[in-house]
Amino acid sequence: MTTIDIKDDSTLLKQLNLYESDDNVSECLTCGACNSRCSWFDGEGGPVPRQMVRMAVMGLDEELIKSGMLWDCLLCNRCTQECPMGITMADVVRKGRSLPDAEYLISEDIRRGVASRLQSGDVNGLTREDFVDTMEWLAGEFAEEVDDPSAVIPYDLSDTEYLYLPNPRELRTNVLHLTAMAKLFYASGVSWTMSGSHTDVTNWGYFISDDEVARKMALMVIEPAEAMGIRTLVLSECGHGYYALKMMTEKLIGRKPGFEIISMPEFILQQVNKGTIKLDPLIHPFDIAYHDPCNLGRKSGMYDTPREVLRLSCKNVVELLPNRENAICCGGGGGMLQDSTSKAKRMITGKAKAEQIIASGVRHVAAPCLSCHRQLGEISKQFNLGVTVDTIASLASKALIL
Ligand code: SF4
Ligand code: SF4
Repeated sequence: MTTIDIKDDSTLLKQLNLYESDDNVSECLTCGACNSRCSWFDGEGGPVPRQMVRMAVMGLDEELIKSGMLWDCLLCNRCTQECPMGITMADVVRKGRSLPDAEYLISEDIRRGVASRLQSGDVNGLTREDFVDTMEWLAGEFAEEVDDPSAVIPYDLSDTEYLYLPNPRELRTNVLHLTAMAKLFYASGVSWTMSGSHTDVTNWGYFISDDEVARKMALMVIEPAEAMGIRTLVLSECGHGYYALKMMTEKLIGRKPGFEIISMPEFILQQVNKGTIKLDPLIHPFDIAYHDPCNLGRKSGMYDTPREVLRLSCKNVVELLPNRENAICCGGGGGMLQDSTSKAKRMITGKAKAEQIIASGVRHVAAPCLSCHRQLGEISKQFNLGVTVDTIASLASKALIL
């Protein structure tokens, strides 16, 4: 028979039960309601939320770390939605990940990305020279796209109203997304810029649960942006990037940033409401379903703005069921997508999403997050869904009436 020593003074327990942070694991009723909400529930392996909480309550830090569950958790908080005691699983798991003995579990890709981001400001190690080269190469393409030889994608300007902070993929594998965003700024006629010093909306300090690293990454964006004198920072469509910069920054850096922070769909809706841009939904006459990214919806409370922009850009928007706070994770959250060895796991965690899309009958899905966008594209191939996946802002850009 195996015996286990229950410890009531474990390192993890000392960080939990702080009452202000919804991670009061000692209140767990052991009901197991959380288990049924987890994307891993019908799959092999993966976290069992109730078990993670019980291990934390019993001070079994070592066993919890060895179980591998901490890094299989998507930090999606879907289980939290069902918890009668409001135990926030992402907080519990992040504190578990932050244990010194759990450091070895961080994947090589995330380790490398964090080092690059801290060194160069970009998880892919993009240098300022690379950035300028990309901007120069894109200039001609952009002028052609908007049919205006004088049109440029501005960068390193001071005192503009807006600064656009891209996802690193927009400066590498998905530059068409960047030109689509530039088209929206161009059409709005606002003063805006990009910056060679801020090329990355992501904050992998969140994934590794090292708040000092997350703080440094936030400051690497905020301080140079304040020095540029911008009024509004517009974030590329990135769920965890939005959550880290919009919802966590004040706590991380101990003050409010000297500018407003909004997402790209919020920028678009503001411009539509001001009448500076017009969108034609008939350009997309098909049924399209909206996917709620966990970090944007459940964790940041943004449900309506991206839906409204989608309705302005597409004729028939349909809902996936369940949705909003009960939405099913794409299966790539919590840093899993950023680990290149995670494909097999992500196809298990993506199965519930795939089944939901099949049940909706749509052939088009939209998500305001480039990570969800990639994961949804991969599950479409894996499960033969035959769906195209777009971001909200790229659909709005295509729907622009110039
Ligand atoms: S946060 Fe998501 S992946 Fe993690 S245990 Fe809860 S439901 Fe499962
Ligand atoms: S739903 Fe909440 S109270 Fe019930 S087992 Fe899970 S963590 Fe404990």
